[in-house]
Amino acid sequence: MSERIAFVTGASRGIGRACALSLAAVGHKVVIAARNVDSLEAFAGELRAGGATVFVQPIDLGSSDSIAEAFGRAQKDFGPVTILVNNAGITKDGLALRMKKDDWDMVIQTNLTGAFLCCQQAMQSMLKARWGRIINISSIVGETGNAGQANYVASKAGLIGLTKTLAQELASRTITVNAVAPGFIETDMTNVLSDEVKSKLLGSIPLKRLGKPEDIAAAVKFLASEEASYITGHVLDVNGGMYM
Ligand code: NAP
Repeated sequence: MSERIAFVTGASRGIGRACALSLAAVGHKVVIAARNVDSLEAFAGELRAGGATVFVQPIDLGSSDSIAEAFGRAQKDFGPVTILVNNAGITKDGLALRMKKDDWDMVIQTNLTGAFLCCQQAMQSMLKARWGRIINISSIVGETGNAGQANYVASKAGLIGLTKTLAQELASRTITVNAVAPGFIETDMTNVLSDEVKSKLLGSIPLKRLGKPEDIAAAVKFLASEEASYITGHVLDVNGGMYM
């Protein structure tokens, strides 16, 4: 496999961390980006110990200036990004009736606008290279809806629309754009759920387990590969059969 530079947002923990590990394991250089630089540095040490070439890049997806700066610096000091994994995401849950506009804005800005701006930044080097892979981490709830998550669901459904549109705009330059829609994955994001909620969820998962970050990373690694070159505009469900 040819060696590329992969930019992974939200790489400090959870699914993003697993994605960076699996892309590095197949020989890609990785830019690991998030807000918490200490976690990124610690993770970078682990990756380097395993032989990977890593660039630590602070980024705040809530700020368009931060996104432009991050890509500017990473591409100048490390090289052209041709794989982008838009993974960073947050929740600010509440019933729509009482949802504060600030909570709506923050989730849409981070999960959707932030991802769009990262695509805009990365597509410049992809267009030059006439090759690229964009993988957006959506969610099962972006397909099904979920009471109490109007902002999050809108952002994740928006990512699916963005994926299909960019896939059409960029296909002529051999740039593929796909989404992965995880079900319930064991990370900090779902650790806040009560045992009661978790056991209820288990009952609705045909494969009878919550997912692991590595389950998502495997799908991302495949979509970033040469083998996936004829797949674009697709939403890959990785959810244990919870939604078909
Ligand atoms: P997580 O453990 O909470 O990690 C979120 C990551 O995003 C962290 O690295 C965090 O790093 C980063 N992040 C958050 N806000 C950011 C910001 N403003 N700017 C830059 N980075 C930011 O979440 P996860 O479970 O791994 O989820 C990863 C993605 O998968 C998310 O998009 C999530 O919506 C999606 N997903 C997760 C599940 C699940 O069950 N876990 C299911 C479906 C979809 P810092 O705090 O250091 O910035």
